[in-house]
Amino acid sequence: MNETQEEIQFGYVSAINGSLIEIKGLENQIRLNDLIRVNKILGEVIQIYSDHVIAQCFENTSNLKLNEKVVSLQEPLSMELGPGLLGKIFDGIQRPLEATLLNSKTDGFLERGIDLPSLSRTKKWMFKPLKKVNEYVNTGYAIGVVQETQLIKHKIIVPVGISGKLTYIAEEGEYTIIDELYRLKIALKEQSFNMIQKWPITKNRPYKKRGHPQEPLITGIRAIDLLFPIVKGGTVAVPGGFGTGKTVIQQSLAKWCNADIIVFVGCGERGNEIADVLKQFSEIVDPKSGRPLLERIVIIANTSNMPVSAREASIFSGVTIGEYYRDMGYDVAVLADSTSRWAESLREISGLLEEMPAEEGYPAYLPSKISSFYERAGVVNIYGEDDSNKDNFGSLTIIGSVSPPSGDFSEPVTSTTKRFVQAFWALDANLAYSKHYPAINWLKSYSKYPEFISDWWYERDIYWPEIDIDWYECRRQINNILSQENELKNVTQLIGEENLPEGQQFIIFISKLTRNGFLIQNAFDSIDCFTDIKKLIGFAKIILLLYNEGNQLINQGYLIDDIKELNVINDIQRIGNSVPNDGFKQIEKLKFKLIDEIESLKLMRGVLKKK
Ligand code: ADP
Repeated sequence: MNETQEEIQFGYVSAINGSLIEIKGLENQIRLNDLIRVNKILGEVIQIYSDHVIAQCFENTSNLKLNEKVVSLQEPLSMELGPGLLGKIFDGIQRPLEATLLNSKTDGFLERGIDLPSLSRTKKWMFKPLKKVNEYVNTGYAIGVVQETQLIKHKIIVPVGISGKLTYIAEEGEYTIIDELYRLKIALKEQSFNMIQKWPITKNRPYKKRGHPQEPLITGIRAIDLLFPIVKGGTVAVPGGFGTGKTVIQQSLAKWCNADIIVFVGCGERGNEIADVLKQFSEIVDPKSGRPLLERIVIIANTSNMPVSAREASIFSGVTIGEYYRDMGYDVAVLADSTSRWAESLREISGLLEEMPAEEGYPAYLPSKISSFYERAGVVNIYGEDDSNKDNFGSLTIIGSVSPPSGDFSEPVTSTTKRFVQAFWALDANLAYSKHYPAINWLKSYSKYPEFISDWWYERDIYWPEIDIDWYECRRQINNILSQENELKNVTQLIGEENLPEGQQFIIFISKLTRNGFLIQNAFDSIDCFTDIKKLIGFAKIILLLYNEGNQLINQGYLIDDIKELNVINDIQRIGNSVPNDGFKQIEKLKFKLIDEIESLKLMRGVLKKK
């Protein structure tokens, strides 16, 4: 910024109200969402009047005085994008949080490196050019590539809205993110570029067109992958009261789901809780590569003791970083834990502004804010070269947990979020209390994605002639058994399970087996923590095979107690933690064992047949 510009852009503080400041003198030159700086503190303009503007500061304002000079930075809050994001921990406005926090001399308090740039200016990256001088490049074209971590290649892409002819490109070699990498001739002028791009956090990064979700995001959690699946590019809310397992789910997703990049936004917990989460993340080894998980994760952390406005920005900052990697063609998952803390920051700011409150004190624009977050998910056809006529796609999946006070799902944040997401994993305090984890309530949860991914699963089906159904049909039948059990609940309470017809007793029996064996999954068991697709299908099919065969026997007059006593049932119940993912043969053996045991039962028909 030059001298004269600076002169024009000065204003002064005329009132201070918590994190809000009133500024006079800037009203004619400033736009909504522009950044201002006062005494080293950053703020964002949120209201403009004819004689003053209101800005919310990203830091504690207790040291500010009236009449202090305010500078307009003439740009909205933006993320700095480039190599060096992965493995880093930022606050909501992308200030790097000291890695020392992981060494934990700080007692769980996050230290801010206020004067540090978001990305290191001195670290050198090995750059490999992919283009040559005189080539014409457009938005999204990869100029070259940098190996950001062992796991992730970072494409250096032409920024949005830029196209031109290459007049210079750096040779293969080591460069910092501020070194010149290439020059383009744009409308007769030459413009120089380095590795950094900036993007305003509240603006969606553009793409060519939206695609249809076709591929599931495999989570390794059986209840999710079979009953309430999610797709790459999809949206999910995970509501649940305290202790119902939201954080464990988010962490298993970060570790196991088949996204290439994870952006984890930890929002508004206590400082030491976030410090714990970060410590855990730093210790996790990526199961696919054996490398530290941090090599493909970006963490945005906001604790309750940080200023409310930085917290409000955090989920959008996370999504912006996610979109940037999506634009390189990656599958990205943004995990936000918890969006309720984020919504509380909206409520706090709205209160300070004395806006008319809507339900439970949240501002009337809560729905539009929540939707502007989730709508940034999707599978998209990204800008860039279409190699061999195959369109380039990237995806951004958003999984947001919600912590409704006292687990009441009708409160505004949960009910509003429900309107904007396509899948809903309702965590249930009673299930958690009875140690049924993951505590996903199968009656209250849903997913609107199964139709989109049934072909994907069909192509990966395991053919068992004894039970010729695919994933979609397995899912329907298991759902059916669980809901039939629920319908029988009232009658059972009245007359007792043993007085039900045998067919209905058998439904309850299979439902219990499904719940205790298939749905319960221990996130901390080395085998049970992740179920791959083959094991999942095999497990579901063997339960349904037992159900079909058992039903036939009952219809032919066999005793239900004899079926319940088959040895194989105990083995089926233990598949989760006893059969490793590469042990599919063991499940096939169990299938033959089941068939054999049923055959022997039939052979004894004369003896056992019910009179
Ligand atoms: P929340 O974030 O909803 O407050 P947490 O994710 O911290 O809840 O979970 C609380 C506790 O529940 C965990 O410390 C763990 O003991 C148990 N738990 C949750 N999910 C699982 C799971 N899938 N397997 C085993 N234990 C679990």
